[in-house]
Amino acid sequence: MGDAQAAKPVSGADPRNSLYERIGRFLDEHRLSPDPAHYHFAHAVLSAPDQPLAIAVARLTDGGVRLSRNDIERLGGQVVAGAPAAHRPASGQASEGAAETGVDSAISLVVETQHHVEDFTQIMRTMQDETRGFGRDLAKSAAAIKQIAEIDEITQITSMMIGRIHESEVRLAAATAEADILRTKLVEAHDIARRDMLTGLPNRRAFEEAFAERDLDAGPYCLAVCDIDRFKGVNDLHGHGVGDRVLIAIGQALSSECAPHLVVRHGGEEFALLIKGKTLSDAAKLLDRVRATVAAKRYRNRETDAPLGSITFSAGITAIHIEETSGIAFSRADRLLYTAKEQGRDRICAA
Ligand code: GH3
Ligand code: MG
Ligand code: MG
Repeated sequence: MGDAQAAKPVSGADPRNSLYERIGRFLDEHRLSPDPAHYHFAHAVLSAPDQPLAIAVARLTDGGVRLSRNDIERLGGQVVAGAPAAHRPASGQASEGAAETGVDSAISLVVETQHHVEDFTQIMRTMQDETRGFGRDLAKSAAAIKQIAEIDEITQITSMMIGRIHESEVRLAAATAEADILRTKLVEAHDIARRDMLTGLPNRRAFEEAFAERDLDAGPYCLAVCDIDRFKGVNDLHGHGVGDRVLIAIGQALSSECAPHLVVRHGGEEFALLIKGKTLSDAAKLLDRVRATVAAKRYRNRETDAPLGSITFSAGITAIHIEETSGIAFSRADRLLYTAKEQGRDRICAA
């Protein structure tokens, strides 16, 4: 943050007044009301620009970013009425004002914790580097002192300090390792939250994120919704376990035949596809090839070897317009899927 570093008093001006002005600007920039709690925080930041708090604020606000309520609270400050909005777009946030679910808040928590861990790791690394440097300097000084004169007491004290530095180096290394493990676990949690447990495919959340992050320079995108035909019958005739395996098999067929395009299990026996860089007609042809492959395959019950009969799916596919939301494109594809079902199933409807 520029202000935290630009702590030079203007020559001739009363430094208290200048700090007062800078506190005012700080509150203004971060949309904080003139509340004593906010003054207190701003004062702590601006009056000690070399201290960890000011350095942390400078890092968070680098490039003119406004502090969020979370940032301020994390740094020990307090935010009263008129909290600033979060400056980091939480990737767990649902689009289009969808209701925040338990999963949403869990994801936000993971994202937030990831930021904490990143910050923590960075602090630990810096401390580790500094301590290591300090230890080296001390060791050099001890050697130099020993050469000049045999001052036992000084060398004794210095070696004691070196010993202590070594101990903190060990502790810091342990803390850094701990943070690294935590970071890996959070990456895993982030991945698990975007994967369907049964099929191993990405899930609806991953689809929404990919939709929102479409590369609009990469050509047209199409959205398809596929639904297994008369799947209830598979469950009823062969049991839920067999039904589960059919879901896995169809999911694998779709994702391997359509790679590198995104295939997710959208829910139940429905899969959604985000096809990048293909016209609607080419994307529909690709999907129809998978449909034909699946329909031609003869699935069998692994345990009894009994044939399951043909397993087919129907799909609706549509071109995504640049400005529309995933919900609108999805309902259009869903209506086309419904048409495909009405027309007899085992077919693709495109529009
Ligand atoms: P349609 O051709 O009209 O799509 O008929 P359908 O039988 O596939 O559709 P319906 O919506 O009646 O049934 C879907 C079935 O999918 C009902 C539900 O029990 C089953 N299902 C949803 N999720 C799972 C799952 O994870 N495992 C299993 N085995 N079945 C599931
Ligand atoms: Mg269905
Ligand atoms: Mg179905």
